[in-house]
Amino acid sequence: MREFFDLSPEELKGYFRAVGEPPYRARQIFEWAWKHLVWNPTDWTNLPKGLRERLAARFSIGIATPGATIMDAEEGTEKVLLKLPDGECIEAVLMREEDRRTVCVSTQVGCPVGCAFCATGRMGFRRNLSAGEIALQVLFFVRKLKAEGDRVTHVVVMGMGEPLLNYDATLKAIRNLNHPWGLNLGARRFTVSTVGIVPGILRLAREGLQLNLAISLHAPWDDLREELVPPAKRYSIAEIMEAAEEYVRATKRRITYEYVLLRGVNDSPTAARALAKLLKGKLAHVNIIPFNPAPGLPFRRPPPARVELFKRELLRQGIDVTVRYSRGVRIQAGCGQLRAAHLDARPR
Ligand code: SAH
Ligand code: SF4
Repeated sequence: MREFFDLSPEELKGYFRAVGEPPYRARQIFEWAWKHLVWNPTDWTNLPKGLRERLAARFSIGIATPGATIMDAEEGTEKVLLKLPDGECIEAVLMREEDRRTVCVSTQVGCPVGCAFCATGRMGFRRNLSAGEIALQVLFFVRKLKAEGDRVTHVVVMGMGEPLLNYDATLKAIRNLNHPWGLNLGARRFTVSTVGIVPGILRLAREGLQLNLAISLHAPWDDLREELVPPAKRYSIAEIMEAAEEYVRATKRRITYEYVLLRGVNDSPTAARALAKLLKGKLAHVNIIPFNPAPGLPFRRPPPARVELFKRELLRQGIDVTVRYSRGVRIQAGCGQLRAAHLDARPR
């Protein structure tokens, strides 16, 4: 049995050719699953009955089992734990803001990068997610919102894992979600967040997709960055900035620089000025994320006045900036936290 959502339209065409069926069947079944969200081949009524049966035997469709959804009505955040066939679980988050409905997806179970301030990084790396497993996190909420007469408008690849270290599956999931036969979610509605894997950024620039790119910078100096983000030893800030310029040239999209603000570590006005100097004149935007505490993480969140000072310093230098207090904190929906809480609660 293959997971249906792992396959691209081209692969479906290839499959039908191989079994002696006309390739237009590919479009029919892609539409059923990705557009109409009908996941039982028995209900694919424009296909011959025999073929439906064969497809049902060949593919499993959306096999991840959703657990309970946890809601925070006040924040408009909703989170679901999806159990994968091999017993691993991942979380997907829906954020409702005014006219936006954004799903935050994971690309790996755990993360091999190990940033010092990140709960997912502390958990270690379990495995990559497949393209289908990545897409399913979006489709789960697409289905749920459809039942409420609403729809998903944006996808941010900012959950567990480093997307550019699971490049092929991540891009395949995005292309499938973007495909006109299916959801047809525009490339500009996706944001891929990376810790700064330079070859991945350069490759992404050549995809011919206008995806938004977010780069987790966290420090304006290499030595400080190396303490926080292990890959900084391989890719200097200068190299990252060069790759980012290449990305802007290719896609014309403004880049977001994420900066987790850690009290007494990277939150000084001097750091803000150094950051401004790096970004001056670039098509850039800074997203300050005041550190979101989790058990075992040896950092603190700066007081609001300090956050404000950092922001004002950037603004003074003409840099666009927003402060984003991570949503989902109350329902333990911070990066990797639902999974961690779930595992903690399991009987030993
Ligand atoms: N691996 C990718 C995407 C997932 S992390 C990346 O690092 O960009 C998504 C964002 O959450 C990153 O900017 C990351 O730095 C941030 N983050 C991780 N742990 C955090 C914490 N404890 N508090 C605030 N932000 C955190
Ligand atoms: Fe991985 Fe991103 Fe967490 Fe770093 S911040 S450990 S890259 S998920």
